[in-house]
Amino acid sequence: MSLAEFIILFSTVFFSGLSFLLFKKNNPQVLRLALAFTGAFLFAISVLHLIPEVYENGDKNIGIFILTGFFIQVILEFFSEGIEHGHIHVHKKHSHSFPLAVMGGLCIHSFLEGMPLTEKFLRHDEDGRTLLIGIILHHLPVAFALMSMLIDSGVNKKAAVMWLMLFAMMAPLGALASQFLGEEILSDAGLFFDRIMAVVIGIFLHISTTILFESGNDHRFNMYKLFIILCGAGTAFLMS
Ligand SMILES: [Zn+2]
Ligand SMILES: [Zn+2]
Repeated sequence: MSLAEFIILFSTVFFSGLSFLLFKKNNPQVLRLALAFTGAFLFAISVLHLIPEVYENGDKNIGIFILTGFFIQVILEFFSEGIEHGHIHVHKKHSHSFPLAVMGGLCIHSFLEGMPLTEKFLRHDEDGRTLLIGIILHHLPVAFALMSMLIDSGVNKKAAVMWLMLFAMMAPLGALASQFLGEEILSDAGLFFDRIMAVVIGIFLHISTTILFESGNDHRFNMYKLFIILCGAGTAFLMS
């Protein structure tokens, strides 16, 4: 991954979190629609771009890695309380203590998601850019929700900004770590990168479907939501 891409990946997420300090009031309706867009986009890039590519290379076990990613995310959400969806599921008992489990779960999630980025860029693959945009789009509301949760838990602003910085660094660090693993340690880098991509696809399938499900209002038909979902999927389609 080039330095410019590192900086984009870090700074978009970091400044999205910082923006919470500027406009503390968020509009739940707008946020819900923005989340529906990112959910649809992540789901669509998975099925249109990422899944076909990992299956194309003929690794018979690739499906197991997608399933593994899916279940890793199920487990991570016990800790992160679903902050990866870009909203906070409020649990009263956790208020006013530092949300260490949430932070830990979220950081592992983000680190894993960053891992396939290197290989994609090394191959100058179009899908690499799609993946980068997908991660950024989905982490913008997450950074916002993280800041909101930290401030609500009584963490002071300076410390909150430090934690935000840590979160924003996790995906770039994941990319660096897998680049190191692939180039220096493992003999079959191609297989490793396909499998780590498959794990991230599993994570994407879990969070995108959950985001879409949660952005709905009791399964009532919502014209705006349908439109936004079509826009999200359509954008992913046009990116091929
Ligand atoms: Zn949720
Ligand atoms: Zn993520």
